[in-house]
Amino acid sequence: MRSIASRMSVMSGEGALAVFARARELEAQGRSIIHLELGEPDFHTGQSVIDSAAKALADGKDRYCAVQGVLALRQEIAAYLAHTRSIQVSPDNIVIAPGCKIALFQSMMALLEPGDEVLYPEPGFPGYPSITLGLGAVPVPFALSPRNQLQPDPDEVASKITPRTRMLLTNSPGNPTGTVYTDSVQRALAELAVKHDLWVLSDEIYARILYGGEYLSMLRYPGMKERTLIIDGFSKSFAMTGWRLGYSVAPPEVIPALNLMAVNTYTCVAEFTQYAAIDALRDREGNTARMVTEFSRRRDQFSQDLNRVPGFRCLPPQGAFYAWVDIAGTGMSAEELCRILLEDAGVAAIPGAAFGHEGKNFIRFSFASSMSTLHEAVERIQKVSAVWQGTAVR
Ligand code: PLP
Repeated sequence: MRSIASRMSVMSGEGALAVFARARELEAQGRSIIHLELGEPDFHTGQSVIDSAAKALADGKDRYCAVQGVLALRQEIAAYLAHTRSIQVSPDNIVIAPGCKIALFQSMMALLEPGDEVLYPEPGFPGYPSITLGLGAVPVPFALSPRNQLQPDPDEVASKITPRTRMLLTNSPGNPTGTVYTDSVQRALAELAVKHDLWVLSDEIYARILYGGEYLSMLRYPGMKERTLIIDGFSKSFAMTGWRLGYSVAPPEVIPALNLMAVNTYTCVAEFTQYAAIDALRDREGNTARMVTEFSRRRDQFSQDLNRVPGFRCLPPQGAFYAWVDIAGTGMSAEELCRILLEDAGVAAIPGAAFGHEGKNFIRFSFASSMSTLHEAVERIQKVSAVWQGTAVR
């Protein structure tokens, strides 16, 4: 009998994409929708990066190329990580992938056996449990709870470690909460990883979108170099979501496995995009700093405005570009609230449970939209808030 492999039934989609599809249907009916559901910068790729891609194509960089990635790009990434994150890595330990998600998948496929347990933050990026399950491994969430300022609790993580635990996944700044793990939390997590001999997968995709302070990569902690894989890329920091460019930084013994995964799937990443990515990292036009300054203004204003909505409570995030709003005070479920926001107010947001059970009393708004759009979104939300003011708890 023809059938779909059972591993597919344990994987899941992404809440943002489901909301986006419904928002698109409403737009097709002529409705005006403000899209605050997707995790995509509203900025576009810098002009010099676009020019570099065009030049690379004109120069004939349209062939198959090195499986691990173009050496010049890997050298530039090593220099960039030293400069922006104070970590020393060799270009030999970097593998270029078509997007962070593939880098994540490739790394997990290389390191996990069926039945292995993977500790991951919840609420968190939906790909973490989904990929884990798809590989026959077991996702074990640790909470980012408001009781703990949305920080991981190392004692809770320690209590969930078993002889089957193989990997600890971290994501700072995190999607959807915007949490930047504190130095002491990261140090404690690193100690646990050493003590229990775990792999650490540090998803650093939002490392540059930080509202103050120095970025502390997991790789900087004692004992981490030999067990940590960094996942990063160009989607968020350089507004290049559609280019599909990411990379893993891994200990030397993992590199052949990552290369083997590349050979058996995407072969190599498009050569001309890799040359353009060198230009993005050099960022002569200061695009990343300009974008982050603008996100920071929006963060301040948007979180202030959201806190004026009856029943909403929102701490300004420390990184990334999401407002993570506690809606328990509305007396409504996040699903019902998001339905009202979309259908009645024309504002698309994501119910927090899309990021795991721990997010059930929250909704996520992306503030990667102009200040005037965010302002209009809050006005629309205020208008429909009468619906829940009758049931509001405060
Ligand atoms: N990791 C996190 C935490 C993300 O939020 C995302 C995208 O939203 C990804 C990975 C995937 O990034 P990419 O678009 O480069 O595949």
